[in-house]
Amino acid sequence: AKSCGRNQISFYETGMQSEVEQRLTVERELSEAISGGQLQMHIQPQVDRHGTPVGGEMLMRWTHPERGPISPAIFIPVAEESGMILRLGDWVMEQGCLALLQLQQAGWDIPLSVNVSPKQFRQVDFVEKVKQVLKNTGAPPARLILEVTEGLLIENLQDTIARMVELTKLGIRFSIDDFGTGYSSLAYLKKLPLYELKIDKSFVQDTPDDANDTAIVQSILSMASHLGLRVVAEGVETREQADFLIANGCASMQGFLFFRPMPLDKWLALQKQNSLS
Ligand code: C2E
Ligand code: CA
Ligand code: CA
Ligand code: CA
Repeated sequence: AKSCGRNQISFYETGMQSEVEQRLTVERELSEAISGGQLQMHIQPQVDRHGTPVGGEMLMRWTHPERGPISPAIFIPVAEESGMILRLGDWVMEQGCLALLQLQQAGWDIPLSVNVSPKQFRQVDFVEKVKQVLKNTGAPPARLILEVTEGLLIENLQDTIARMVELTKLGIRFSIDDFGTGYSSLAYLKKLPLYELKIDKSFVQDTPDDANDTAIVQSILSMASHLGLRVVAEGVETREQADFLIANGCASMQGFLFFRPMPLDKWLALQKQNSLS
């Protein structure tokens, strides 16, 4: 068998298959992945300045029976292109709600974040679907944060706002993911019912050494504070980055320095251990 690493790259990325063939392959394989139990949700806890968990993000993992682990950075964009993201998105939303219940039973009363792709959000029945999942699972909407990207805000802003408002009425909160990497204007920040901004890891990465990135991160923190938005910095890998963020008033951090994404069961076991010790 070929090595997983090589397959991971050749899978979906070479010109060996035509675009149409590739799409069909992905659709078939992802469809098998859902029904065949190859998908798993991991959780990456977020911490406050003291290192105490204050939230977590659910991240999808796909372990292909022959190709091994395939990064969401590779398969999510393809799934988005092919429309398969809709089925994946339904699955993720349900898993997120189930995870929320499991965590709550284990004493977790902090929010859990779930990623929502633009195509998923734009489905005509998205709001209805979310309501249905909440009803079916019994998950507490007030603990659910939906992470959306700036891309969502370029088209149909009025419709986006209307949907967000409707979901906000249920208690659901919204976060702008990868903040600062999109092309949208800052004007929408005032118009949307937002709770949080997530500073993209590309900005966090080179702080505090890079003067430009440092200025960008400081500006986002200051602006968010004036707008009353919570900020999560993602991709925090070093103590220096964390200290810089804390010194500039960043409330929450997410990154390998604190926790890597891990299976939910592992996190639950860790929590249990801590509460016993
Ligand atoms: P994202 O939403 O920006 O998620 C954060 C990514 O940063 C995750 O990559 C996470 O593992 C990674 N990360 C966390 N801490 C660090 C760190 O300290 N350093 C570095 N270098 N990376 C860190 P992952 O899990 O590979 O996911 C990649 C992207 O795939 C996500 O980016 C998100 O856009 C998408 N994705 C993952 N799961 C889902 C999902 O369930 N639904 C949707 N729609 N998209 C998802
Ligand atoms: Ca995210
Ligand atoms: Ca992000
Ligand atoms: Ca990102």
